[in-house]
Amino acid sequence: MKIDLETCTACEACIPYCPVQAIQIKEGVAVIDDKECVECGVCFRSGVCSTDAIQDVPITWPRTVRAVLSNPLIESPDTRIPGRGTEEVKTNEVTGRIKHGMIGLSLEMGRPGTGTSFHDVQKMTQALAGTEVEFEPQNPVTFWITDKKTGKLRDDILNEKSLSAIVECSFPIAKLQDVVKQIQTVAQQIDTVFSVTACVKVAPDGSLPTDRIWQELGITPYPDSKNNVGLGRPLF
Ligand code: SF4
Ligand code: SF4
Repeated sequence: MKIDLETCTACEACIPYCPVQAIQIKEGVAVIDDKECVECGVCFRSGVCSTDAIQDVPITWPRTVRAVLSNPLIESPDTRIPGRGTEEVKTNEVTGRIKHGMIGLSLEMGRPGTGTSFHDVQKMTQALAGTEVEFEPQNPVTFWITDKKTGKLRDDILNEKSLSAIVECSFPIAKLQDVVKQIQTVAQQIDTVFSVTACVKVAPDGSLPTDRIWQELGITPYPDSKNNVGLGRPLF
């Protein structure tokens, strides 16, 4: 994203629209800090600029990583899914990706106001790789992991950042304690916030097979979910 210096009147109207405070007035004109801008497109799409000074200029790799994960209108070229490039586990009743005895975790790193760097995303992927999880193949972050055994990301994206990034993996429920302990360690080492979504198949008696493990970990999960229920027939 760029601001045309000739047509900007420094009215400041666009400043509150930026979720990462990347727009500032400098020497009588608005400028975008390229390092902080996550290419979410909000300032442009809002239409707030009365002089059309905000310009949606083409960007190239590796900066496109920012737009794929921050602009809900951009489709991931790897997964062909818009809105951060993944369906997460919301369609599990159709895809059947998470089976009985398994658990799927979605770690959503960064939020508007903070964002996340890919150095921090890599810390999470490396910690998860250490517990031998399987990374979700239909997720753009997985495409950027160069070594699934170590969780190392491509070097050329490490200096990028995005509004958020979703790391997804699955593993046998028996490993849950180990994986959560790794995630808790990483939480002390990163400069962003994250939330964890856990997906398991409900047992025939209606119970969740992970209830006792969460209790032992001292964690109270919220049994709410955002599922796309009834949108298709199971493919499995
Ligand atoms: S809204 Fe437009 S004119 Fe006003 S500061 Fe932003 S870019 Fe400049
Ligand atoms: S594209 Fe998004 S992050 Fe970049 S300046 Fe505009 S609102 Fe801020």
